[in-house]
This record gives sequence, structure tokens and C-alpha cells, in this order.
Amino acid sequence: MPENIILECPFCHKKTVNVIYYPSILQASTSRAAGRTVTKYYKTKEKYEVLSDCSNCGKKIKEIQKALEGEKKDPDKEKEIIERLKKQGLFMDEIKQNYKSNKS
Ligand SMILES: [Zn+2]
Repeated sequence: MPENIILECPFCHKKTVNVIYYPSILQASTSRAAGRTVTKYYKTKEKYEVLSDCSNCGKKIKEIQKALEGEKKDPDKEKEIIERLKKQGLFMDEIKQNYKSNKS
């Protein structure tokens, strides 16, 4: 069932944005082919319907909606974050190594 929730504004990160959240559900679709009825199940995509402007930064419904959808459609973003963390991890090791070699 769709839920009415308050989301963080993707622009100012304040909890101001009123949305209806449609969770991903299983839906049946029937089609007829060659006299037989075929039922297929498919998962719908979860989605957000933005209901309000951001009362903090004044971004409009359309802009917020776009930003939310953009985030969902961007699988590279997660990869990018992981890569960045990995790099930071390596960087930390380097610092540790340098620290050790400086000490000895
Ligand atoms: Zn905002």
C-alpha cells in the first residue's frame, strides 16, 4: 500500500518533503496468446510522488521529483561511493605506513 511519508529534501537535506511512497509490489498481467491465457508476474518499481515544495530551501515539486528519480536511476553512485571509500582506505594505510616508517 502506498504510504504517506516525509522525506529528506535532496537539495538541503532537511526533512520537509511530503511524498507518497509506492513500494515495489508483485503484479499480475494476463495476456492471451493463441487462445491461451498466460499470466505473468512482474515487480513494479518503487516510486515516490512528491506532494509538496521544500519549505526550507523552496525547491519545487518537479525539481525534487527529478532529483529523487535521478538518485534511483544512478547505480554508479553507489559504486562511486565504494570506490571512494576504498581509496580512502588505501590512503589510510599509506598514512599508517608512513607514520611507522617515520618513527623507526
Ligand atoms: Zn530543501
